[in-house]
Amino acid sequence: MNFLKRYSFLALAVISVEVLLLYLFRTPMQDAVRIPRTFEQVMFGDNIFGASVLPRFFSASLSETPNIKHQPVPKITFLEQRLITYGLVNISNVDHSIAVSLKYATEDNFLHKNLYGELKNCYLQKETAGKLVNAQKILKEKYPFYSLIIYDGVRPLSIQQMMWDEVKVPEKLKDKYVSNPEVGSLHNYGCAVDASIVNENGWEMDMGTSYDYFGELGHPIAEQRMLEEGKLTWRQFENRKLLREVMTEAGFTGITTEWWHFNGTSLKSAGEKYQKVD
Ligand SMILES: [Zn+2]
Repeated sequence: MNFLKRYSFLALAVISVEVLLLYLFRTPMQDAVRIPRTFEQVMFGDNIFGASVLPRFFSASLSETPNIKHQPVPKITFLEQRLITYGLVNISNVDHSIAVSLKYATEDNFLHKNLYGELKNCYLQKETAGKLVNAQKILKEKYPFYSLIIYDGVRPLSIQQMMWDEVKVPEKLKDKYVSNPEVGSLHNYGCAVDASIVNENGWEMDMGTSYDYFGELGHPIAEQRMLEEGKLTWRQFENRKLLREVMTEAGFTGITTEWWHFNGTSLKSAGEKYQKVD
């Protein structure tokens, strides 16, 4: 009898512990998919990343929230959502090794204004993005620790108009530095990039002028003369040459007045295939 009593008590104890464990690790029945609770969820409740971190046993309100997996949600700005509807892609999603620093998303530009708001990603047409990935590959084959850095990709027409109105150079020289919004620019289609090179420490290579420098020293067409006149050093000259080499080998074309600007296609071809972002 004593034997039976002892084992009945033991069996009862085991059942009680099981019932307790089932209660603690239960999942709400209304969930279509039953996700096992983690130890943290048992101890601190489901909302472990939220405001309440009181242990479950001491919490004043034990709300039965569904088991939601708390994962960081990538933030997509309103402007980005619009860009995606134009068929543009975020270059960082295509090749995350390419550095991006949108100058018009900061005050470090010729207007000293943030024109892009919260937009930090560079968006391009898929075809142009593909060429850029290829340019990065070509650069890394030559110098594995270097990387392209992108200062600008797609540029909505409304922002192009703002730049046109604000650029302070004589009227007849204006379109050397900013494309007339009435004509449009390959940036408006997401078919052009403004680029440079950074070294293994993320430092931008010395190209002789800053980005958006409005003067002859920034003109590729004048480089040879600038070198001979001592206005560009041999190193600056070679750095620009390297940038141009990798970009042209990947299918981009440079222009005569900006060392940083590269077109991924012609204005005619872009006009036939794509829409300008307004
Ligand atoms: Zn440009």
